[in-house]
Amino acid sequence: MNVEIELMTIHASKDKEADYVVLIGLLSDELPAEKPVDDILELLLPLKESYPDAEERRLFYVALTRAKNRVYLVYSPLDPSNFMKELESEEYNTCQHEIINGDFSQNPYFPACPECGRGVLSIKNGSHGPFVGCSKFPVCKHTENICSFCRSGILEKKGENLACTNCQVAIPVCPKCGGDLLIREGKYGQFLGCSNYRSDDVISCNYTRKI
Ligand SMILES: [Zn+2]
Ligand SMILES: [Zn+2]
Ligand SMILES: [Zn+2]
Repeated sequence: MNVEIELMTIHASKDKEADYVVLIGLLSDELPAEKPVDDILELLLPLKESYPDAEERRLFYVALTRAKNRVYLVYSPLDPSNFMKELESEEYNTCQHEIINGDFSQNPYFPACPECGRGVLSIKNGSHGPFVGCSKFPVCKHTENICSFCRSGILEKKGENLACTNCQVAIPVCPKCGGDLLIREGKYGQFLGCSNYRSDDVISCNYTRKI
């Protein structure tokens, strides 16, 4: 099989054709590109166009129509171009699984947000350390706890435990305050005690359970 691959900008692709086209860089800060409005060009245009980013939109159309057989759109669901967001919306009758990487939502590291279903979960840095949050923040405020053992999975409530989606870790949860239960040494042997217990704080959680 004779495969020829050419790399070019959208501008350079005008009037060209290929069997298959792969568009990369469909990210929020790449397309539409922010650029100063050209006043003279605006004057020369026959009608004031009502669509936002009309010029870049035309460019995107050019890119989409270069392929004879198929066009592949590559983008990160964490930071998609506004044009990709529009294509994903219900307004367009597009084949979603060909746009959204189906495997992405099944990836245990970055599952789809269980709350809004539109965003994907990723690791963010908070003031209390890393946590998992939804890419649609602030619209969606869903967060989850990261497994501190493998640092790749998410801790989900499973019965009386918090279980990791990635490794075998299952942390028993305090039914009183929701904190982790830790193995502690006592006078009479080991027991499970709440991680929020502080010996010098009488109002801290004092839940214990036999092992
Ligand atoms: Zn969400
Ligand atoms: Zn884990
Ligand atoms: Zn507790």
